[in-house]
Amino acid sequence: MFADSVRSLHREGVTGDLGVIFDRRDRFLAIGLYDATSPIRLRILHAGAPEPLDEAWWRRRLMAAVERRAALFGPDTTGHRWIHGENDGWPGLVLDRYGTTLVMKLYTAAWLRRIPGLTALLSATLAPDRIVVRFSRNVRDAAAAAGFPEGHEAGPAAGPAQVPFLERGLIFEAGVLRGQKTGFFLDQRENRHRVGSFTSGARVLNLFSHTGGFSVHAARGGARTVTDLDISAPALAEARRNLEANRHLPGVREVRHEAVQADAFEWLARRSPPEFDVVVVDPPSLARREAERTDALDAYGHLVRGALRRLRPGGRLVAASCSAHVSAPEFFGVVRAGVVRSGRPFAEQATTGHPPDHPATFPEAAYLKAIYLRLEPAGQRD
Ligand code: SAH
Repeated sequence: MFADSVRSLHREGVTGDLGVIFDRRDRFLAIGLYDATSPIRLRILHAGAPEPLDEAWWRRRLMAAVERRAALFGPDTTGHRWIHGENDGWPGLVLDRYGTTLVMKLYTAAWLRRIPGLTALLSATLAPDRIVVRFSRNVRDAAAAAGFPEGHEAGPAAGPAQVPFLERGLIFEAGVLRGQKTGFFLDQRENRHRVGSFTSGARVLNLFSHTGGFSVHAARGGARTVTDLDISAPALAEARRNLEANRHLPGVREVRHEAVQADAFEWLARRSPPEFDVVVVDPPSLARREAERTDALDAYGHLVRGALRRLRPGGRLVAASCSAHVSAPEFFGVVRAGVVRSGRPFAEQATTGHPPDHPATFPEAAYLKAIYLRLEPAGQRD
């Protein structure tokens, strides 16, 4: 509930209080976490009939999220999301699992005073070896002042910065203390897996590769070469380690790997022959605010045209966007228009959205979308 919809307060609240909403006739409407300074003044936890938010209630709320994911993953996937914020009824809170390590990330200071209670609940229900607490940038100062530095170890034992886990049988490391998000881009798991299904014999270019997630899947799928391109040298070094960790697999052992540290926009603007069979384009969010939407659409257009210039006939383009302010239809439209403009005939093969452990239960929560296109092989033009 936004601050400007509050008509009156019975008494002043402090961030982290439970706030109760009553309607004009003083009937109970909902209960939520009060945030004294945020434009989102109350994050709703419960609506409907009044109910005490006691220990049993919190436990039920946690188990509902856990049970939603119970059947999704076998033992070959030990890195996934347990709680996806407001979509699971936990506004401003994310919980990810990497093996036996849990990483909880808080996006509002309203959760700070509940950290000890949450830690006890997670220990009692999920029995992790380790619980790391992370904070979004805007919460870090308040967290530090409350005695919780970024990467706070709240569980039974502390551990290393890098934590191994499995994604569809592949070994990866999550940077749980300092890495982006909670240490890995778990939300792209299904797209990575899909890419691995069509890379046999392919020369693969992974733009915005980060720690090489798409590349390891592509290598297992039999790619001849994989080229990681990222602006971050540490991310590229980690990508190399992730490939190395999977060398017991024939595809990974045989792949030729190249790492390019560069700005993807500048690199694509250079003239170069089309030498790739698969190009994956997975940039960071290009529109963090509504005002950046138009520039983001232009940037996506540039990326698509640049990627197409590197694609051989018959090649495949996989383009993803994680900008919440760019809708799926807008993004797909820009990509399709880019390919049409190139004059090269193509077939659209799929579009994808959120993976099942990152559900989007309201329109504003949907940020992730990807599109798969294939250029026609040479000689099929009329
Ligand atoms: N595909 C990855 C996630 C990509 S995250 C995965 O599956 O894990 C976005 C990446 O883009 C980050 O690693 C960041 O370092 C990189 N990046 C940001 N701006 C860039 C630029 N201008 N050129 C190249 N890489 C960039």
